[in-house]
Parts: sequence; C-alpha cells; structure tokens
Amino acid sequence: MNFEERIWRAEELYRKYGKILLQDDEIRNLLNKLNFAIEKTWDFMRKIGVTEVCRQCALETGSCCKRWVENEHDEYILLINLLLGVKLPRERYKEDGCFFVGPNGCRIRAREVICVTFLCDRVKEKIGERNEIELQKIAGEELETCFILQEKIKRKLSSLDNKLELSCGIPQ
Ligand code: SF4
Ligand code: SF4
Repeated sequence: MNFEERIWRAEELYRKYGKILLQDDEIRNLLNKLNFAIEKTWDFMRKIGVTEVCRQCALETGSCCKRWVENEHDEYILLINLLLGVKLPRERYKEDGCFFVGPNGCRIRAREVICVTFLCDRVKEKIGERNEIELQKIAGEELETCFILQEKIKRKLSSLDNKLELSCGIPQ
C-alpha cells in the first residue's frame, strides 16, 4: 500500500468504524492515556530545551523530518490520530520533507517510534545524559500505550469485519 492509499484507508476506517471504536471503553481509556502520555513527553522536551534546539535547527537546516519517515506510519497510527481529533494534512508542505511536517513542525499527534525517540548529537549535547535517560523513560510510556492501543484496535476491527462477513453470509 503506498502512502496516499494508507491515508485513504485510515480515513475510510474512521468513517466506517470511528464511532464504534470510540464507544469501546477500553479503547477510549487507552486514547485518553495516550493523549496524556504524549503531552507528558512534549512537556519534558520543552522543559529540557529539545523543542527550542529543534526549532532553531529547522530554521537553519530545514529539520530532520525527511520524506522517507512518512512511510513508517501505517493506516493504524493514522487512524489513532483521527480518533484523537487530528485532521490529517491534505497537502505536502515541503517537497523533500515528511508529508506530516508543516510550518510549525509535526502536524500529527501520535507518531511512530523513530519520531518519538530520535535525538541527534546536537540535542544530546544540549540536554545531557541524565535528561536523555529520563526522556527515553517518559517517551517509552507513550510508545507502549500507543502499541497496546494499536493492537487493541486491530483486534476490534478484525472482529467487526468477521461479524460483517458473517451477516453478509446469512442466506436471504
Ligand atoms: S533532532 Fe536534531 S537534526 Fe532533528 S530537528 Fe532536532 S536538532 Fe535538528
Ligand atoms: S516528527 Fe512528524 S513530521 Fe517529523 S518525521 Fe515524524 S511524522 Fe514526520
């Protein structure tokens, strides 16, 4: 599936099953937990100065959000973004950049491992080893919650698809 197809597929899944997924208590709780964990990661990144270093870097070099990273994001992580209320971008902002990068940084909220954990030498130097370890711990909670949520959503979608197939198979 190419990248445009994955966006289309995520939006289709959201249109078809979004309401049902949001009615599932476990999924709703995991979405809230993820939202909170993402905020915690960003808060800590702001506190230790990562966001400022990256902002400067983006002005000087155009940032490290390269085009290939968009392919790390499948339809399920995109669906999670839709469930979190994120509007997926319609157009690419930067020709050689990731589809999700915009004028103010990343335009999605739930991101894949590479985006959440990558720290270049410039950032590592700025924050020091103790903060780096603490950041990995905080980001780890975000990634773990996101992984559990993706698995839960996949299982739910597969059971919904099975029910749909069964009901379609009932002789008229
Ligand atoms: S992680 Fe490093 S290379 Fe990427 S935007 Fe931040 S400072 Fe620049
Ligand atoms: S942080 Fe966002 S814009 Fe940057 S590579 Fe990851 S998904 Fe793309």
